Amino acid sequence: MTKPPPKVTVDRPISAVDYPFADYPQAGGVTEVYPGIYWLSTPLPFRLRAINLWLLKDGDGWAIVDCGYKRDDVREQWSQVWETKLGDRPVKQLIVTHFHPDHMGNSRWMSERWGVRPQMTQAEWLWANLAVNDLNSDNVPQLADFYRRHGLGEERAGILLEGFILYRTGVSVPDCYERLHDNQLIIIDGKEWRVLVGYGHSPEHVCLYCAESGVMISGDQILPEITPNVSVWPWEPDADPLQGFLQTMDRFRPILRRDTLVLPSHRKPFTGVHIRLQELEHHHHERLEKITSAVGSGITAGELLYHLFPANLDGHQVAFAMNEALAHLNYLMHCGRLRRESDSQGIYRWFRP
Ligand SMILES: [Zn+2]
Repeated sequence: MTKPPPKVTVDRPISAVDYPFADYPQAGGVTEVYPGIYWLSTPLPFRLRAINLWLLKDGDGWAIVDCGYKRDDVREQWSQVWETKLGDRPVKQLIVTHFHPDHMGNSRWMSERWGVRPQMTQAEWLWANLAVNDLNSDNVPQLADFYRRHGLGEERAGILLEGFILYRTGVSVPDCYERLHDNQLIIIDGKEWRVLVGYGHSPEHVCLYCAESGVMISGDQILPEITPNVSVWPWEPDADPLQGFLQTMDRFRPILRRDTLVLPSHRKPFTGVHIRLQELEHHHHERLEKITSAVGSGITAGELLYHLFPANLDGHQVAFAMNEALAHLNYLMHCGRLRRESDSQGIYRWFRP
């Protein structure tokens, strides 16, 4: 079911990012953020601390967006919420924004418990299966070699090898799914929610937008306070995910109402989405400038980390920092502002043209 996106509604001027909810929901509890939409916060093994999961009243049951990391304490929290807050009414729809473990982790458990197939895009489904069955993203030695060729020193390569959190520890993938397409309409409690596919953070990330309510479930595509990770991985070393990310923001801008309440996967719900899009764009352009001036007479991605990120990165953060540095370097290479050369040891250095 598709039809063209609705026209923009300019409701009132908004000049800042605001957070209408002062506190996170208590463990085992939910906060109603909009009539019939509830916020659950569950723990994570990364420094991000927690992920937000969304429960939407859907007739005589519930629609759920994202499942949380596969851990006993997260499942206990889900069970408790179902019993105490959701009246044990069935889950009728399960939507997964993207394949990352904090979003997809419990999808098999939920599918089996409620007899539903997760709805997600095909690329996210395939990547989850590659990650779990072929272990592509868990090949940490391959990852370390890729980063070494990009100038990651042995000390940080060691931190990575010891501290990288494997994908498969956080996810069980169900046997089947339902495919979502960009611009598709999903009906939840009689309202139309539009699937908006975004790029840059994951292969085909789903955001959900209800123009009638002015609510967007943004997943990791748009986050407040922190910037969504944009990564280059060894299996597509010349990828340009940053361009996809910036183009996605350009595409979303005219679709979203000015007064949209954004429900992100990390940190708190916020308004002022157009300001936030501007801030994100500004952040990346500032970072591109910083990198261009740090290049000097030639720099590796590993050396660049010291210009861009704090010194005390853990193993997981080393990987994401390298990926993020490479995303910016590749963007600059693709638009002709930097060039890359491999030296006599096979290490890649970046130069101005
Ligand atoms: Zn993610």
